[in-house]
Amino acid sequence: MKDLLSDLNIRQREAVQTTEGRIRVIAGAGTGKTKALTHRYAYLVNVLGIDPANILCLTFTNKAASEMRQRIAAMVKSGDYNDFVCTLHGFCVKFLRKEIYRLGFPKSFTILDEEDSKALAKECMDELGLKRTEKTVKLFLEGIGAEKALNGYIEAYMLPGSVITDHMRGGNLACYVSRQMKNWALDFDDLMNFTLFILDRFEDARTAWQEALNYIMVDEAQDCNLDDWNLIEKLAARHRNLFVVGDPDQCIYEWRGAKPARFVEFASDRDIILDENYRSTPGILDIANCVIANNRNRIPKDLFTRRADGVPVIHFHGKTESEEMEWIVGRIRALVESGASSREIAILYRSSWQSRALEQALLNAGISYSIWGGTRFFERKEIKDTLAYLRLLVQPDDDVSLLRIINTPSRKLGRSFLDSLRSYALSEDTSLYRALLAHHGEMGKASASEFVRLIEDGRAHVETSTISDLANRILEGSLYKKALREDQDEERLENLDELLASMRFYEQSHAEEEPTLVEYLQDIALYTNADYRQDTGSLKMMTIHQAKGLEFPYVFITGLSEGIFPNMRTIREWKKNGEEEERRLMYVAVTRAENALFLSESEGYNVATKMSKYPSRFLDEIRRDMVVLEGTIPESLWRGTRNMVHVLDEESYVPDIRPAKGGSFEVADGFAADRNAYNSPFSIGETVVHDIFGEGVILAANDDFSSFQVQFADGSTRFLRAPFLHRADLP
Ligand code: ATP
Ligand code: MG
Repeated sequence: MKDLLSDLNIRQREAVQTTEGRIRVIAGAGTGKTKALTHRYAYLVNVLGIDPANILCLTFTNKAASEMRQRIAAMVKSGDYNDFVCTLHGFCVKFLRKEIYRLGFPKSFTILDEEDSKALAKECMDELGLKRTEKTVKLFLEGIGAEKALNGYIEAYMLPGSVITDHMRGGNLACYVSRQMKNWALDFDDLMNFTLFILDRFEDARTAWQEALNYIMVDEAQDCNLDDWNLIEKLAARHRNLFVVGDPDQCIYEWRGAKPARFVEFASDRDIILDENYRSTPGILDIANCVIANNRNRIPKDLFTRRADGVPVIHFHGKTESEEMEWIVGRIRALVESGASSREIAILYRSSWQSRALEQALLNAGISYSIWGGTRFFERKEIKDTLAYLRLLVQPDDDVSLLRIINTPSRKLGRSFLDSLRSYALSEDTSLYRALLAHHGEMGKASASEFVRLIEDGRAHVETSTISDLANRILEGSLYKKALREDQDEERLENLDELLASMRFYEQSHAEEEPTLVEYLQDIALYTNADYRQDTGSLKMMTIHQAKGLEFPYVFITGLSEGIFPNMRTIREWKKNGEEEERRLMYVAVTRAENALFLSESEGYNVATKMSKYPSRFLDEIRRDMVVLEGTIPESLWRGTRNMVHVLDEESYVPDIRPAKGGSFEVADGFAADRNAYNSPFSIGETVVHDIFGEGVILAANDDFSSFQVQFADGSTRFLRAPFLHRADLP
């Protein structure tokens, strides 16, 4: 017992030893909340002798749950912890495996993941004749979720006695649910709703579970939504031993319904506040405190640490993305040479598309890495699909590529069609695509002929088009992008934008050799075929959301540009609240670091905003003496940053006065990459002078760069023709 408490501070001990009642721990990052919680588990088991089957310990991500299990396993005898150390949804699954028989479901019910739910939604939309141009799959599913949030759908639709009346038939929910029922399938919403339903309706079940769960503990409670709270409170109602732990500054799921106010208003018998951070050096902590202080909607608190000063936090500014990547690789090498293990290093970013440049740089440098909670860029479906299309253009005999994309997006070419295509190919000893080319006319499928036209059109352009134009032509012509837009699949669209941007970069950097598509595909094979093991000993890359609750000795936060982080879409949709949530995300990111923190960003084209990049406002919020700047940032770039913030405050975003033509962003991209190539007199972010209005900053340009949107010192903006402006550094 001495051991268990000896490495805790006095308030953590209080948290561990106050086992009875409703206890809340409110504390900032790295103050040992999770440590207190796991020690409390061990205390309950080792000291008080509570059977682990009576302790429920909840958190949010699978990664955090497994981390929690490991910490507990190190303190209790093997077998003395059970799988009630899990995520909320994980608990629902365990609960339902035992209890769902009450509703006539088999205990082997299946669980629909996000992709399964989307597939089901598409089937329903087809059946109901809903055009996807009018209603996206995402909206359809949101509608289903909203209907399921209302009481009564389980009884009305999903129980043995449920009768679907004429009134309900033809409705979206009836259609979706009847398909679910055919496979005894539950989606994520159902897992929670069914659990609550059974607890509400079956008194014996409720009493048994309330009786069994003597102690309930919840980590990261600031991210609980109302259903989560409802479940937790219900389960804890009998014994009232509920221990909740959280940090309102780390709430990063409000966009998914988290209600941090419930944590703040939690009726507790005792509150324990921890304010000593054990994780990070003072320099890192200063930055975290400095950034989060800009949130207005928060309870002010400052963390302190007694750790000795460490190395200074570095902010690197690169002139190009390649420079940023090179710098990161160089730093990683230096860390490893100075004795750090690569498993101690984590690279964090806001959105998953950002991994592309990092992965390529690491692969080039021969540094192995693993991506947590995500897929490697070149293994993502949309990237593999696009490359398969391109491969087919230059290798019509590539059956693997053909099979990958002939029905992507869906062309309704079913098994029998493919069988007859195969038999043509076999009897004529040729490839599938050549057989299709020869026989599509007689095969009687308009969509197959359409596909042939698309590929032939692409092939006709292989010699004359740039690689990126060709890829875009295929993605638009095949309706691949259109399908993603209809699904509102932002993440995949962002990945495709990033792929196209990387192709343009490839073209520019190989401009002299005029690279062909074949050469590009050969070069890129280095990344697509990269042979790797899922190596736990290697450096880790992940989005910040995945990193919550975790800690790493060395942390890189990359791509810190306006629009990327903070994410432009979040701010557009949620305005100030969105900005504050993004800032909390920055706080989470910074506080993952133990010994050293590296912040990086670069100039150039921004895939997210389709404009030039400016340093993130979060960097602007850090006092300059708190970081060591490497690289130089022209003052005009900071002005660009402040303009973005200013424009946002006005809630009128920079109008997109350069409409993308036919889905192509060549003008915007090229402009940012090299204004001279397009004869543009000014760059975005550049300071210009107008004889009457004075000094201002270029925000945007029209299509042919003949006029520019300029923001002046008083905040006003005007569209002005180029001859009326001159560069600030010229007389
Ligand atoms: P987060 O808000 O990021 O989830 P947290 O509050 O849960 O952080 P922990 O992960 O529990 O913090 O602890 C952060 C680090 O500090 C861990 O490495 C932990 O071992 C260490 N730590 C916590 N409490 C103490 C203590 N009393 N003495 C020494 N080290 C401690
Ligand atoms: Mg924690």
